[in-house]
Amino acid sequence: TRKKIVAGNWKMNGSLESNEQLLKGVFAGIESENSLVIVAPPFAYLSQVSAMVKGAQVSLAAQNSSQYASGAYTGETSLGMLKDLGVEYVLVGHSERRTHYGETDGIVAEKTKAIIESGLIPILCIGETLEERQSEQTLLVCAKQINAVLSEVGISNFEKVVVAYEPVWAIGTGLSATAQQAQDVHEFVRKHIATQDSEIAKKVQILYGGSVKASNSEELFAMPDIDGALVGGASLIVEEFVGIIKSAG
Ligand code: 13P
Repeated sequence: TRKKIVAGNWKMNGSLESNEQLLKGVFAGIESENSLVIVAPPFAYLSQVSAMVKGAQVSLAAQNSSQYASGAYTGETSLGMLKDLGVEYVLVGHSERRTHYGETDGIVAEKTKAIIESGLIPILCIGETLEERQSEQTLLVCAKQINAVLSEVGISNFEKVVVAYEPVWAIGTGLSATAQQAQDVHEFVRKHIATQDSEIAKKVQILYGGSVKASNSEELFAMPDIDGALVGGASLIVEEFVGIIKSAG
């Protein structure tokens, strides 16, 4: 059975003070959970959060990374630097990166490859826009986004990838996909991976993201192909994030 993952993507939010409050609250709320809890703070706070999560049952993720090892890339952060800070997971291909920062399927594939090669674990975000869903392109879009990475890293490396299905229309809108809508896509993604390797497909953890809250997480997690959540807004609120973690069992 696949272990559940609850990951909090803080996006560009927080301060030294609020991060400390939030993490203390989360630590106090989650004594002995079976799920893997991850937080992805902004780069500026990775050091702070890295020091705080040491010895706690919380792992550290970065929200992005460079695909390059070093050099003249002003403003970028390499995977080596992230490893230095105790980062274990890296979000890649978040829809906000794709939309606002021009990250194409090709760039996302290159970054995912670099993350795997560095020994870190990519959390590969995929998902369709509202327009794509309405024109019944959802599965096609998800397959295309997965294929771009598969062809770059190869199926044997896909075991090291965590997938996060985040329908763009559900992100930050308060309008989550229904548990069944999410399950349908997760099942499709797993079957799609299974066409290349059925054993790997069984192992790949597929998270759902998009307006996950403590009030809808239990229903989502009850679905057979939903292995956890990538949480935005609700990961900034102690009771919400702890509630989601608790519902992961
Ligand atoms: P919300 O939970 O705020 O909808 O954000 C989801 C997300 O983008 C997580 O990466």
